[in-house]
Amino acid sequence: MLSQIPTQDACLTCGACCAHYRVSFYWAEGLNMPEHYTEPVNAVYSCMAGTNQTQSRCIALGGEIGQAVSCRVYEARSSTCKSVQIADEQCNKARIAHQMIPLISIPLHDAENDEDFDQVS
Ligand code: SF4
Ligand code: SF4
Repeated sequence: MLSQIPTQDACLTCGACCAHYRVSFYWAEGLNMPEHYTEPVNAVYSCMAGTNQTQSRCIALGGEIGQAVSCRVYEARSSTCKSVQIADEQCNKARIAHQMIPLISIPLHDAENDEDFDQVS
């Protein structure tokens, strides 16, 4: 299968994971978002509106998937959103579902002999 090395801003031209899964989280994580952006799942969990359905697409996702996208609540997004990492299993599953080429995970090497190295996580 074809795959490609991700650029640092790969998410800005993707958005697949924001339109594939039900994005649920502990309800209190939604308190910093507009009220209509979240929906209750049960007494403990909420989810992003638009993601609890077959054709999932988060209400906060702006733009066109696979072209140029942005998250309207990026700073307030849930821990569930933050847990998806570029090129991880969930990322590539969503990308494949949207007919996008999966990304290759590149391990970060230890920055030996480079005290000025800042690891971006
Ligand atoms: S599917 Fe992967 S590359 Fe696309 S937005 Fe999500 S984390 Fe970023
Ligand atoms: S809140 Fe933002 S990061 Fe999370 S699924 Fe929606 S658009 Fe994606």
